Amino acid sequence: AKQHEHPLHCHYQPSMMTTSIEQTRLTADLKRAIDNHEFEVYYQPIIDLHHNKACGAEALVRWHSPTRGLVPPNDFIPLAEDSGMIIEIGHQILHQACMQTYDQIQKGHWPTDFLLHVNLSVCQLLQTGFLAQLETVLAETKLPAKNLTLEVTESRLVTQPLLTTQILKEIQSLGIHIAIDDFGTGYSSLAYLNQLPFNSLKIDRSFINQMMVTENYSAIVTAVISIAHNFQADTVAEGVETAEQATKLKQLGCRYAQGFYYAQPKPMSEWSTETVNKSGK
Ligand code: C2E
Ligand code: CA
Ligand code: CA
Ligand code: CA
Repeated sequence: AKQHEHPLHCHYQPSMMTTSIEQTRLTADLKRAIDNHEFEVYYQPIIDLHHNKACGAEALVRWHSPTRGLVPPNDFIPLAEDSGMIIEIGHQILHQACMQTYDQIQKGHWPTDFLLHVNLSVCQLLQTGFLAQLETVLAETKLPAKNLTLEVTESRLVTQPLLTTQILKEIQSLGIHIAIDDFGTGYSSLAYLNQLPFNSLKIDRSFINQMMVTENYSAIVTAVISIAHNFQADTVAEGVETAEQATKLKQLGCRYAQGFYYAQPKPMSEWSTETVNKSGK
């Protein structure tokens, strides 16, 4: 990977980060984890609120470290991004998620229009040859492009607006969908959104959380849904934890939702046909 060809690079910069023994150790452990394929994709159902059933899932990485146990992404993704290791880790995750999803569809466990969402770091997006790599993963795993949505975090896109917009358009031209993650938490302007190619907006958990408490937040959620509609895009509410939130979201016209109220992220081995049929409440 030659990220240095792009102005935004993900390589580790000693001046920007205080090195510690723990960081050095974590870096070494992560390198081994890549070689030993210690990452496992967990899946959290995405519920279609119109039909009250799971129509897809978000792939969320977990690291099975022989020394650290099960490590959540927030404990290693930031370092993986700073060190550039996210490129290789992200590739392994994408490959595993596409392969398993194709397998589930083949076996008839998941519908043929199942929507697999995979998180994409901006470092991956800006890496030279990313598009070709994406096409290779789809070809190798046989997963149709229409089954794949890539989630990119809004706040990370603004550092390279023109370049990221161009790459996202090329990704869409392959038939892959784009979701803007954590929408509303960044500082990008609505004018920027106008240039950004996207198929859905993911409403950040913090808004869903506050929605039942403060009327202002409910107004924000309504506004996001309205913006999405105007762009012919869908909305996915994140972090839905209660029946009240789910009911409210339906009233506001939100199409999709995910959260602990429906299901926790779980490994493929724990998914069943019931997960697809019964997780909608
Ligand atoms: P995210 O993309 O915003 O993912 C949603 C996070 O919210 C997940 O945490 C999920 O387990 C959690 N969540 C889902 N429903 C609920 C709920 O009802 N309540 C609460 N409190 N939390 C809920 P997780 O799996 O720990 O992932 C954290 C972050 O790590 C993700 O945030 C994403 O930014 C990053 N991440 C995870 N997997 C990947 C990956 O494969 N690649 C990259 N680049 N980043 C990843
Ligand atoms: Ca996400
Ligand atoms: Ca999110
Ligand atoms: Ca997040």
